[in-house]
Amino acid sequence: MNRTIKLALIFSFGLFLSANPSAQELSENDDPEFQRVAPFQVFDNLYYVGAKWVAAWVLETDQGLILFDTLYGDLTDIVIDGIRELGMDPNDIRYVVVTHAHYDHIGGARRIQEEFGAVVLMTEEDWQMVDEDPIYREYPKPMRHLLVTDNGTVNLGRTGLRFVKTPGHTPGVASTRFTVYDNGFPFQAFMFGGVGLNFEGVERTETYISSVKRLQSMGDIEVNIPNHAASGDVFERYEMLKDRKEGEPHPFVDPESYTAWLDQLLVMAEAKLVEEKAAAGQ
Ligand SMILES: [Zn+2]
Repeated sequence: MNRTIKLALIFSFGLFLSANPSAQELSENDDPEFQRVAPFQVFDNLYYVGAKWVAAWVLETDQGLILFDTLYGDLTDIVIDGIRELGMDPNDIRYVVVTHAHYDHIGGARRIQEEFGAVVLMTEEDWQMVDEDPIYREYPKPMRHLLVTDNGTVNLGRTGLRFVKTPGHTPGVASTRFTVYDNGFPFQAFMFGGVGLNFEGVERTETYISSVKRLQSMGDIEVNIPNHAASGDVFERYEMLKDRKEGEPHPFVDPESYTAWLDQLLVMAEAKLVEEKAAAGQ
């Protein structure tokens, strides 16, 4: 693995997992001008339309678009503008997969439903969160559409998604596997839908650990598509992709760093479990 990427991978953990962002980070996070990233193509059928700190992705199929996550507030403009800038039409969004019901992923779902008639998919556990008091911030509540179930599939044209429920970060995190193509060559991609350890409790931490172990046992994932850019070095890899010479490997095809990342997550979660147990007097 490229050394720069490895360093960035380790460095980005600290940033991404900081549970209490400073006031400056908060306002930078919410500022659409600060957050705006020109949208870009990563694979034949996959595009980045997210912001700096939180991701959104479009998977293009022969029967329309699948959007992963929606950002929130004014940041949702970045998603919609990005789809148009890439030459696609947001009216073609058929499905929105919401990885989990925290405002930064679900916040624009209601708008995408209303403006473009897209169908929103989420797990039962996270649909229930929509009816409860929000954990971090309010957002317009999406209408309840379809359920993501463990091992469930959704097909759109010739494209298939397979879901893996990976609870922990929220009670019903939706992770997805799908195929991406690089000049026609297929690769197995995976989006781990909720990574951060900003939750509490022994039981929830044990649940998170089981989810990570389950992902480790899958073993055939070649491409990590993260829902926060920093946790998969999206921008660094895109710089490498732009400079790629003919015949060189695609910088997002990196099973080794995906595996190393899961290993790191497990180490951190096991350390958290020790702390949670101590706090609970266990
Ligand atoms: Zn979250």
